[in-house]
Amino acid sequence: MEKLPQPVRDPKNLYTKIFINNEFVDSVSGRTFPTINPATGKKICDIAEGDKEDIDKAVAAAKEAFKLGSPWRRMDASQRGRLLYKLGDLMERDGALIASLISLEMGKPFLQAYAENMWAAGILRYYAGLADKIGGKTIPIDGDLFCFTRHEPVGVCGQIIPWNYPSAMFVWKVAPALACGCTTIIKPAEQTPLCALILAALCKEAGIPPGVVNVVPGYGPTAGGALTNHPDVDKVAFTGSTEVGKIILQASGASNIKRTSLELGGKSPCVIMDDADLDEAITFAHNGVMVNAGQCCIAGSRTFVHEKIYDEFVARSRDMAEKRNLLTGDPFNPDTKQGPQVDEEQYKRILELIEAGKTEGAKVECGGGSVGGEGFFIKPTVFSGVTDNMRIAREEIFGPVQQILKFKTLDEVIERANATMYGLGAAIFTKNIDNAMMFTQGVRAGTVWVNLYDVVHPQAPFGGFKMSGIGRELGEYGISAYQEVKSVIMKIPQKNS
Ligand code: NAP
Ligand code: MG
Repeated sequence: MEKLPQPVRDPKNLYTKIFINNEFVDSVSGRTFPTINPATGKKICDIAEGDKEDIDKAVAAAKEAFKLGSPWRRMDASQRGRLLYKLGDLMERDGALIASLISLEMGKPFLQAYAENMWAAGILRYYAGLADKIGGKTIPIDGDLFCFTRHEPVGVCGQIIPWNYPSAMFVWKVAPALACGCTTIIKPAEQTPLCALILAALCKEAGIPPGVVNVVPGYGPTAGGALTNHPDVDKVAFTGSTEVGKIILQASGASNIKRTSLELGGKSPCVIMDDADLDEAITFAHNGVMVNAGQCCIAGSRTFVHEKIYDEFVARSRDMAEKRNLLTGDPFNPDTKQGPQVDEEQYKRILELIEAGKTEGAKVECGGGSVGGEGFFIKPTVFSGVTDNMRIAREEIFGPVQQILKFKTLDEVIERANATMYGLGAAIFTKNIDNAMMFTQGVRAGTVWVNLYDVVHPQAPFGGFKMSGIGRELGEYGISAYQEVKSVIMKIPQKNS
């Protein structure tokens, strides 16, 4: 049997400073902010707090690195690919440490954090292979003319990432940007700077030239705001809440019309028809909403179940959540399935929404509150009798809370599935191909699964319809967010007769 990776419970020599031009530096202001362990509520360490002046320095470094003739711009695309490959290898080498930092600062169970980081390394390798296969087109145009397109890097990118998948989100942003030849400034979430900073150190070790990847920890409205408003940033890529997505889109427009890609929230429907394989459907629906303590943009947080199987589905989903409750606790315990919520703010908001569910008349089948004691732990919760107008059926909860709704017909459930401002994911469980086809066509979502949930691969594009975002990440589609298309039109001289 393969040996399980072992966590580093008390990691030493943490990277805590701002990373600019391949150097770790203090913030210009000298200020720091604490990063907190959500399993205990206690401080892990202080991190240099980036603000506008630090963002200015990082943008200047990224701009210099992007200059025509710079080592990065002169580098062969295949060599860029090799560097990404190397970074993937280093992430694997240091997988146990990276996973431990994730467990420490955001509370994800260690083995899940380890798996996240391995998955992230795979995404790097996908883009490593793609780096030298990015080409334009030759286009026949009228007249004695020759037209071709160049797919050029968009330039200096500002990339703002969330805390729920600290390693994967870093890679989702950095890998396609670097494959295309861009340079970047990353603003990690305030809750998870340690993971981003160790990845920065690995970028340097991989041989990525100075200024190509810069990491500025700090707060959203200050460091994030300075990045999105900066006149020398060509493109901003953001993953996080729809609320902040709107602010970013406005800042991009008001400053210099930055190219903007957004991966935002969701309230994804998971539909179970009465002919579904019930064992599979119950497990996928449960994991689809509970994974990562429910802190997942694509969480299947509306489970629609056909009336004929509703009662059995609810009873078995409750049993499954009760078992999960027994495995909720210390993220470093290898048996733990669910850790704490990321911070007190998220924890309080989830508890508030659970109370709203109760007040609005949904039935708590199990869970329904905090675990108690230190840390931000919430019991896996299942609500039945949920109706479309309740807050728990409309708002993104971002917690381990399953809403089970009842339906009669496919037409009805498609309409109800679409009655949301979001459109990130959707799933149907059925053995009937016609049902599956009608659902995949009718539902307005960026990813639709049939008979499974939460499968996200490097090769398949990912993104949202409606207020779940703009643009696609991953796969070949993910590259287009980091390119400008240049048309070159040349005169073809005609032979003198
Ligand atoms: P958030 O505020 O949207 O944070 C995401 C990132 O944006 C963080 O790096 C954040 O910095 C930054 N940010 C915040 N305000 C900004 C601004 N004005 N300008 C530029 N950047 C800014 O998310 P959150 O506060 O962590 O969580 C709130 C809700 O967002 C969750 O309950 C959930 O519904 C949703 N969420 C969605 C995803 C997703 O994967 N789609 C991920 C996380 C959260 P700070 O860390 O300093 O705030
Ligand atoms: Mg926030």
